[in-house]
Amino acid sequence: MARTAVVTGGTRGIGAAISKALLAKGYKIAANYGAADNVAQKFHEETGIAVFKFDVSDCEACKRGVAEIERALGPIEVLVNNAGITRDGTLHRMDEESWEIVIRTNLGSCYNMCRAVIEGMRARKFGRIVNIGSINGQAGQYGQVNYAAAKSGIHGFTKALAQEGAAHNITVNAVAPGYVDTDMVRAVPPNVLEKIVARIPVGRLGHAEDIARGVLFLVADDADFITGSTLSINGGQHMY
Ligand code: NAP
Repeated sequence: MARTAVVTGGTRGIGAAISKALLAKGYKIAANYGAADNVAQKFHEETGIAVFKFDVSDCEACKRGVAEIERALGPIEVLVNNAGITRDGTLHRMDEESWEIVIRTNLGSCYNMCRAVIEGMRARKFGRIVNIGSINGQAGQYGQVNYAAAKSGIHGFTKALAQEGAAHNITVNAVAPGYVDTDMVRAVPPNVLEKIVARIPVGRLGHAEDIARGVLFLVADDADFITGSTLSINGGQHMY
């Protein structure tokens, strides 16, 4: 039977590519989003994928969202924690709100969503969780102490939960994208982006589909020996 997969921030950018790639492989998909109703509606009309609006930075909203998805599509067996935001600025100018909202949205969401699905996964002895980190959580980035801290936290979260899930056939992995051509990266000033692309050995920005390919690999039923790992997909920009 088709497995049910949830992709947070699954209606545009990298998340939309992940939702579509999973759909093409026969999964039942719930694509979550936070605010952009028009984008989500258009995505739903184009793909037929069910969309669910809730704020992943809010633990109670995630509990309600997960319950609603499970009523509609059945038990969640695959979770992709993809939703994320940036509020860039150097630390000496960064206000507390920019720090907190990025930590809550990018890292808190992993706790909120995993907490809401983990008991069911343990009971059913199956789960695939992929958390979307970032090259900037691995290498750091000027003007992103909040984002880098959250993304770096995702990598520790992944390894800890992987240890807890292993005996229950729940794998937990991270994907760390490099710079991918989405709205998030289009917000970077063109002169800065030009310098970034010059540092990518492959010579281009990533496509959202490049990241989706890695997620598909990690959530496969027979990927049960891959857990606690980070798959870097960055065109060779950062290797370690
Ligand atoms: P994006 O185009 O800006 O899309 C972000 C998605 O997250 C949207 O669907 C958005 O929903 C959703 N979202 C944001 N805050 C949310 C909230 N509080 N609750 C629910 N959904 C929320 O971003 P992207 O570039 O595709 O990035 C996707 C992930 O990859 C992020 O975690 C990002 O940090 C990571 N990443 C991206 C890059 C890159 O180069 N693009 C590189 C490394 C890592 P709405 O549409 O409703 O706003």
